Amino acid sequence: MPVSKLGDLSRCAVHTQTNKPWTLAECIAGYKSIGVNAISVWRHVFEPMGAQEAGRMLRDAGMNVPALVRGGFFPAKDKLARQAAIDINRVCIDEAREIGAEMAVLVVGAVAGQALEDGRKQVAEGIAEILDHAQAANVKLAIEPLHPMYAADKSCINRMAEARAVCELLPHPMLGIAVDIYHVWWDPDLQAEIAWAGKNGKLFGFHVCDWRADTRHLLTDRGLMGDGCIDLRTIRGWVEDAGFKGYNEVEVFSEQYWAMDQREYLQLIRRAYLEHV
Ligand code: ZN
Repeated sequence: MPVSKLGDLSRCAVHTQTNKPWTLAECIAGYKSIGVNAISVWRHVFEPMGAQEAGRMLRDAGMNVPALVRGGFFPAKDKLARQAAIDINRVCIDEAREIGAEMAVLVVGAVAGQALEDGRKQVAEGIAEILDHAQAANVKLAIEPLHPMYAADKSCINRMAEARAVCELLPHPMLGIAVDIYHVWWDPDLQAEIAWAGKNGKLFGFHVCDWRADTRHLLTDRGLMGDGCIDLRTIRGWVEDAGFKGYNEVEVFSEQYWAMDQREYLQLIRRAYLEHV
């Protein structure tokens, strides 16, 4: 079916977690049915069949895979636990290679009660340990800054600037940043940071959804594009001005939408993408 009839979905990717009730096979079939040929894959959806088989399914279906989601969670109070995290990240990189993902997204982690600054040092130490492995596997590593509401236990990197600091400390072509608008839309430095990332080859990923002004849950109430208050077109403009040529990845965690018939929901996703991204 010609893409023009469906509108321009040529740069649209969808995260499997957006359609959490679905299996990987259902996600692939569903996305293809609306003319989307790119999928970012969350690790748990290929647990039943393993990364190799998942990679075969994705290749057979002709799907492009911008990202495996997710590695990271480097900080821990003791050295053994930090080493265990590094080992898990090596496995993530291997899986990303097997499913044909361009990058592994890193949600970097945080330990409640530990200084964020110490957490960020541990993140840099952890990433430094896996860069060679990422290079050998030809899998990029994308640090995703998370909204400060997750600073206690999910991410000690909350703004683009902190992600940039790690990129500057560890200058490596395989290390960059995933910009998720849900997390960084409010940052007064966002435009400048996106421009820096583009100029320095660090703009790896772009995740879209929306921020509901009356948000009901900090994790599972993301809006579909157009549901909230993010000026998505302006931010996409900054990203494109910075030279980004990758996918606009639809990543929505929402109890409300997960409760819907997922085929009907896909039509809403398609419309929201065409109207607002
Ligand atoms: Zn994201």
